Amino acid sequence: MKVLVAIKRVVDYNVKVRVKADESGVDLANVKMSMNPFCEIAVEEAVRLKEKGVASEIVVVSIGPTAAQEQLRTALALGADRAVLVESSEELNSLAVAKLLKAVVDKEQPQLVILGKQAIDSDNNQTGQMLGALTGYAQGTFASKVEVAGDKVNVTREIDGGLQTVALNLPAIVTTDLRLNEPRYASLPNIMKAKKKPLEVLTPDALGVTTTSTVKTLKVEAPAGRSAGIKVKSVAELVEKLKNEAKVI
Ligand code: AMP
Repeated sequence: MKVLVAIKRVVDYNVKVRVKADESGVDLANVKMSMNPFCEIAVEEAVRLKEKGVASEIVVVSIGPTAAQEQLRTALALGADRAVLVESSEELNSLAVAKLLKAVVDKEQPQLVILGKQAIDSDNNQTGQMLGALTGYAQGTFASKVEVAGDKVNVTREIDGGLQTVALNLPAIVTTDLRLNEPRYASLPNIMKAKKKPLEVLTPDALGVTTTSTVKTLKVEAPAGRSAGIKVKSVAELVEKLKNEAKVI
């Protein structure tokens, strides 16, 4: 079974992001970039399926600038077999990304496509669902357990206040939640081996996809700064302030 995993290059989760002075977006100059954490979980799940003998080949795909090759090489070091970069320096919205992923799905014909549930930069949580609509494949979102059984995949989903298990006919799309697995670290020998694994570079044009955006970001603002705290002289004063000023008791 061939598994396709979509990975996004995003600002590292440890970075405290700065908003550009003109509020047009986030300042990416000299900022550490990494694989989106939910995509790391997606790669890990694919690698575990291969270790169990369920998956025969793992192809990782990223859509983004030339530098996204770094994240693809990381995925190759973690156990993926082959990588595809759809190179674009434009800021693409989710529908454009989903259309490009659909073109890669048509080309690669995977039985299972694994994506993160959400990219931590845009917090869109929609690419997997859009890909589901474009391909017509069954989808299991927010997966905390994935089990392939014959021509089906059982996905346990984290839903409000509980878990739901659904059986999807293959080919299917799964998006990963935080508790699906704990991703491994790449070992040095595997990082070296990954340099020799195949990495194909394609363009949206070559895939016949137009990426014109129907969404425009108007403004990005930093959260309002917190006002300074105060010291109170007694418990009575604290209770009075909690009651009458903060109105929380
Ligand atoms: P989003 O819908 O933007 O929150 O992203 C959800 C998931 O879609 C990510 O975790 C990735 O698996 C996939 N994805 C989004 N953008 C890209 C991209 N540019 N390249 C590859 N995969 C992507």
